[in-house]
Amino acid sequence: MSTTPYLMTINGRGVATPDSIRVVNPANGQVFERAPRAMTEHLDAAVDAARAAFPRWRATSLEQRQALLASCAAKIEEHADELTALFTREHGRPLAQAREEILGAAGWLKASRYLKVPVDVTEDSKTRRVEVHHEPLGVVCAIVPWNFPVLLAAWKIMPALLAGNTMVLKPSPFTPLCTLRIGALLGEVLPPGVLNVICGGDELGPMMTAHPGFAKITFTGSTKTGKRVMEAAARDLKRVTLELGGNDACIVMPDVNLDEVAESLFFGAFYNTAQVCVATKRLYIHESIYDALRDRLHAIARKTKVGDGTEADTVFGPVQNRLQYRRVMDLLGDARANGLKLLEGAPVPQGDGYFIPLTLVDNPPDDSRVVVEEAFGPVLPLLKFRDVDEVVERANRTEYGLAGAVWSADVEQAKAIAHRLDTGTVWINQNLQSTPFTPLAGHKQSGFGVENGVAGLLEFTVPKAIFIPKRAD
Ligand code: NAD
Repeated sequence: MSTTPYLMTINGRGVATPDSIRVVNPANGQVFERAPRAMTEHLDAAVDAARAAFPRWRATSLEQRQALLASCAAKIEEHADELTALFTREHGRPLAQAREEILGAAGWLKASRYLKVPVDVTEDSKTRRVEVHHEPLGVVCAIVPWNFPVLLAAWKIMPALLAGNTMVLKPSPFTPLCTLRIGALLGEVLPPGVLNVICGGDELGPMMTAHPGFAKITFTGSTKTGKRVMEAAARDLKRVTLELGGNDACIVMPDVNLDEVAESLFFGAFYNTAQVCVATKRLYIHESIYDALRDRLHAIARKTKVGDGTEADTVFGPVQNRLQYRRVMDLLGDARANGLKLLEGAPVPQGDGYFIPLTLVDNPPDDSRVVVEEAFGPVLPLLKFRDVDEVVERANRTEYGLAGAVWSADVEQAKAIAHRLDTGTVWINQNLQSTPFTPLAGHKQSGFGVENGVAGLLEFTVPKAIFIPKRAD
């Protein structure tokens, strides 16, 4: 048996595995812990437990489920200090922002009290009433990436369980520990089998999506993997919700107050070391303010500390894992090889940590890799534009369609531009906002289906129309 204290939670019990995976601290590149490596029998046991728990769970009332989810939130809050420290260690993000994610996940679970599965009445005539109920699907397979491992798990747990489903949840192999710990904590609150957390290497995701015991897959990750998930789901027509990659454009109009907006624009791109699906990944700046804003952003980058997340003055941590570090370095290498002008921020710690300086790319061509690809790391292309039609066309010229932003003193003008962006979300004079009540829906290859809000809740249900006759008086 593996010797890690972090166990999987299957049917309410902690489960160890014979083999384990290594967990690395990205601030120093060192293995500091191990996590279980699930094999087929663990997956089968988790699915069996979730299936066995489903009939009783779906029969609980909405109010009971809301109350239990609120107790889950309280458990996470009680253990926020421990989870925050663990989060920074496995993820790299500075402590204060790590705490934001832990408490944000608890907040998401609590928000269940304001959500309910609706019953639609499509006819209520003299002769009959037609009610459309939204019933739970069964056992949900939830697969989560490493960039927001805890919050994105909560985005799935809350609506799936609230709608009456049970779940088997898998964290990314890069960030398994907080999720395993939360699985154990929530196992103290929820009936056995309602939420099972398993963990493993690269082989586990495909094993899960191929498993016939799941009725639904909810997946957040890259577009490339999302396509594989959809293919696997097709075999037995599992329902899927896919939240995938983005290459979000942010458009800055000439009438903004540069002193007021520069810092927000910067954080909208670089928060979490730019490992945010809805981060600004292409910053379009009107030509009349381009040089001034570029210089302000560069000045902010030069004074922003990138370092170990446990140090109090660190603003951004390392890239979360070696694979992603290599991808971003490759993108930067390509930019250099093509003679693009890179504006680097503050120097980063040397050593084995996955640190990359915050880097602005000064007006690269539209077809350069740094513009076309989702960097998912601290590289931000700044792009000059002249007029609205042109910038809208360039912003939409991508296979992605997750989110976008428009900054302008003229909110009406910004709204008009927002309507022309082919994305599921547009922020005006703000960024990175999401709420449990607002659907997040990737357009084009950024997703399939919806997370959050009533629309996201309904993704965990199937409609059932009941035709009820009325007695003629
Ligand atoms: P990834 O696709 O490599 O992995 C995501 C998860 O899928 C991990 O748990 C991984 O173990 C698992 N997985 C890998 N191969 C699988 C397979 N064949 N079948 C099933 N599961 C498999 O993504 P990542 O690198 O962890 O995350 C970064 C990506 O996620 C970025 O593209 C980012 O934009 C996207 N993302 C999207 C959202 C959103 O809401 N749209 C949110 C966060 C991240």
